[in-house]
Amino acid sequence: KIKVDNLVKNYGDNAVLKGINLEVKNNEVVVIIGPSGSGKSTLLRTLNKLEEPTGGSIVVDGYDIAKPDTDINKVRENIGMVFQHFNLFNNLTVGENITLAPLELKKEAPKQATEHAHSLLQMVGLESKFDARVQSLSGGQQQRVAIARALAMKPDVMLFDEPTSALDPEMVGDVLAVMKDLAKQGMTMVVVTHEMGFAKEVADRVIFVDDGQILEEGTPDELFGHPKHPRLQDFLNKIL
Ligand code: ATP
Ligand code: MG
Repeated sequence: KIKVDNLVKNYGDNAVLKGINLEVKNNEVVVIIGPSGSGKSTLLRTLNKLEEPTGGSIVVDGYDIAKPDTDINKVRENIGMVFQHFNLFNNLTVGENITLAPLELKKEAPKQATEHAHSLLQMVGLESKFDARVQSLSGGQQQRVAIARALAMKPDVMLFDEPTSALDPEMVGDVLAVMKDLAKQGMTMVVVTHEMGFAKEVADRVIFVDDGQILEEGTPDELFGHPKHPRLQDFLNKIL
């Protein structure tokens, strides 16, 4: 689980996160929504220290990741991250992309890593693509490989930053279906997305971030059905 207390992030004198308090329980799916530039990506990226927090504390699985003596690589092994642009290694095959980190970082046996990769590919509907080159795949297929790659490390938590925003519309459903499956299996997930259908159906909790602050949070019914904050009402009017 994740517990964030009074998280502050400044870029120079630009305050991007202004005291975020957030708790994500095991098996919970939390969806983060909010306008462009509000700090959603920065928040996700500080959760596995891709960004250095300016202040506050972030505890993941009992490790305070803001502390300098915490082994961040160990923490990151338990946090899978999926980005808008899939960030796969284009010079490697699908199978090599998925097995790389387990082989190199976890020193898994090749046979075991390969078997796991095949079962993950089956889960994301790409069992025939183990030996395919990344460039031969569609965007939606690449994103599903990126999810499989993150899962190969057997993370406790998965972070998704607008995983479907760069995809052609007809590819979006396949990726969301994989994410729904993951949620059903009990994966703890933090998802930044503009897919309100996904949020309504899958989220346990939705968080509205605006200008570096959480302005409102609640169940999908509360947030979408009865938004209280005028900025949230305004935001929903624009996107729905
Ligand atoms: P979007 O919906 O467009 O992805 P976002 O909510 O994810 O937006 P962030 O990417 O977190 O927003 O950016 C929040 C603010 O932080 C923006 O004002 C942005 O310009 C600034 N920012 C983000 N990354 C950096 C950086 N590396 N250096 C300086 N400023 C940054
Ligand atoms: Mg972003």
